[in-house]
Amino acid sequence: MRIILLGPPGSGKGTQAQLLVQRYGIVQLSTGEMLRAAVAAGTPVGLKAKEIMASGGLVPDEVVVGIISDRIDQPDAKNGFILDGFPRTVPQAEALDDLLKHKHLKLDAVVELRVNESALLSRVETRVAQMRERGEEVRVDDTPEVLTKRLASYRSQTEPLIHYYSERRKLSTIDGMMAIDEVTRAIHRQLLALGAVEPKTHGKAHGKTHARSAAKAAPAKKGAKKSRAAKKPTKTAKKAAKSAKKAAKKAVKGAKKATKKTAKKTAKKTTRKAVKKGAKKAAKKVTKKRAKR
Ligand code: ADP
Repeated sequence: MRIILLGPPGSGKGTQAQLLVQRYGIVQLSTGEMLRAAVAAGTPVGLKAKEIMASGGLVPDEVVVGIISDRIDQPDAKNGFILDGFPRTVPQAEALDDLLKHKHLKLDAVVELRVNESALLSRVETRVAQMRERGEEVRVDDTPEVLTKRLASYRSQTEPLIHYYSERRKLSTIDGMMAIDEVTRAIHRQLLALGAVEPKTHGKAHGKTHARSAAKAAPAKKGAKKSRAAKKPTKTAKKAAKSAKKAAKKAVKGAKKATKKTAKKTAKKTTRKAVKKGAKKAAKKVTKKRAKR
């Protein structure tokens, strides 16, 4: 599966990309991350990008197109990828179309995360605060001033891509204002509707599903895993059945005990009553006899 995540800074592309990676076992190709790594490593690309990124501008198209083209050729991208932060301009989208055609690869969907602009600044502020809390290095472009510039670049250079992909019938727009897991579910539903994923990839976005997605890469193993799983109940199910059995046994025992107890009580009561009655009768007989005498 090959998809593009489209949305302004703070729309949740990075968050969703990571969740989709776990769910489908594909890789996230984030040009922002790659460029930051290049800046940190001081490579020629990094040196070119450093100032542009710090000011909120866009790195030249040929630079990012080159990076992405190389990255798509890596073996880990064979199973599919999510493009996050690329393409960001119409020329980049055209270049992507060309290079995918060359590599005989098809783009499944472009998912646009639509958010209220008023929410973006506070989202980025929250992200910065959380990164500080975790002791992580905060991005130099995550300041209100640079964010305003990044938003302006998005509006003028990236937003035209919405039209570009909608004309090509690739666009799916998702409400990015919903809770994180709701957005993930909405994306999944869209991908299902488009036939980009198989229904069996349903499930929560964590470990077990990841294992399933990983199994997708090795169909033989997946078959083996599935049939075994179908025959064998899971550990949790076994445990649950055992404790249910135990509880049922206990309940039967309790009921038996209770019945015994009530029976005993009733018997005692009846005996006491009978004894009383008998005693009364005997006493009456004695009184009658005495009266006769
Ligand atoms: P965000 O989406 O939150 O703005 P990214 O991490 O995607 O942040 O990108 C950070 C910066 O990296 C951008 O502001 C820009 O300078 C540069 N960049 C990333 N992707 C591209 C791209 N496809 N084209 C040009 N510049 C890019």
